[in-house]
Amino acid sequence: MILKALRALATPLILMAVLHTFMTANIPGRSGRKLTVLLLTNTTVAIVIGLLVANVIRPGTWGQINKPAGEIAGGVTVDPWSLVQTSVPDAVLKPLVDNNVIQLIVIALTFGIALRALKSEQTKQGKSDYKPLEQVITFLYEAIIHVLTWVIVLIPLAVFGIVARTIALEGFAPFKSLGAFILAVLLALFLQACYYLTRVKLGSWVSPARFLSGGSDAFFTAFSTSSSTVTMPITFEALQTKVGLRESSASLGALVGSNFNNDGTALYEAMAALFIAQVIGQNLPFPQQIIVILTSIFASVGAAGIPNAGLVTMTLVFSSVGLPTQYIAILVTVDWFLDRCRTAINVMGDMTVSCLLDGKQPKSAIEPALEEALAIEGD
Ligand code: ASP
Repeated sequence: MILKALRALATPLILMAVLHTFMTANIPGRSGRKLTVLLLTNTTVAIVIGLLVANVIRPGTWGQINKPAGEIAGGVTVDPWSLVQTSVPDAVLKPLVDNNVIQLIVIALTFGIALRALKSEQTKQGKSDYKPLEQVITFLYEAIIHVLTWVIVLIPLAVFGIVARTIALEGFAPFKSLGAFILAVLLALFLQACYYLTRVKLGSWVSPARFLSGGSDAFFTAFSTSSSTVTMPITFEALQTKVGLRESSASLGALVGSNFNNDGTALYEAMAALFIAQVIGQNLPFPQQIIVILTSIFASVGAAGIPNAGLVTMTLVFSSVGLPTQYIAILVTVDWFLDRCRTAINVMGDMTVSCLLDGKQPKSAIEPALEEALAIEGD
């Protein structure tokens, strides 16, 4: 019930938050470019870390793994064009009903940009017709946040229930055969987390301790739900209220990032390709690993923020370098655990982007600093 509530709130929250940001916040044109650069560099670093760890540890050579029988069911190949094509919905309100987050972002960004353009046109002409709509959007947006805070109170119960149930049903058995791979993935994810903390420390006003404690709700929710989309409302709330970022940075990083930015997934897909290549004794030379990097970027963008989505888009990475996709079935046994870990890193990546967008000056420090400057000027 708690997860359903979060999922139901996610789509209206995205729509209202993006519209609200565009209508009320002051987003310099640079932010969009900065966001794209940050997303691309973080994902590339994640994949390079994954490939480095897999090349050094060579987890695929540690033990014997039997060839799986048959083809993995439901394997879908994702190509960049189909990603672009499916991002345009059949009807404007359909993404809200289907809970299709990527399409919703497209709608929200399109109307957000249009509303902002109309508002600045009217402001120039001295008109204020846009004001009632701005108030309605603000009011609805605050109402969604209000309901969200009720759901957040219940999250610890959901975390306990889900983790206990999974361990009771699946146990730890699959861990034995794939131990080396699991350790390698955990090490790579840990290194990625260290990279985030360093970036946050050097590129924003947020301290790593504040980042970790403020984001803890979001990390635990990501771990227990395996879904960055379901976690997104918590991420957004944590960034605004606990870390203390500006609304525009929180919404750009968390709402937009949570759907396109899946660094943990990218890292995992690249490592899985190298691992299976090692298992079957197929050498992946440097140019092939470059193809792995490029396809992993697309595969991670295409992976929806839902449980096990990375496994589906992994077929793209495997087929691009000629690896047999039926080996993905081996990974399914441990995916319930690794998915949780990479989802937490996905969320941490979105939070990092938000902090970097927020810059070196905290929100609350600006007004006192301004006041001080004005006082000095007055003197
Ligand atoms: N579960 C991940 C997420 O929601 C996606 C994946 O890698 O499977 O971010």
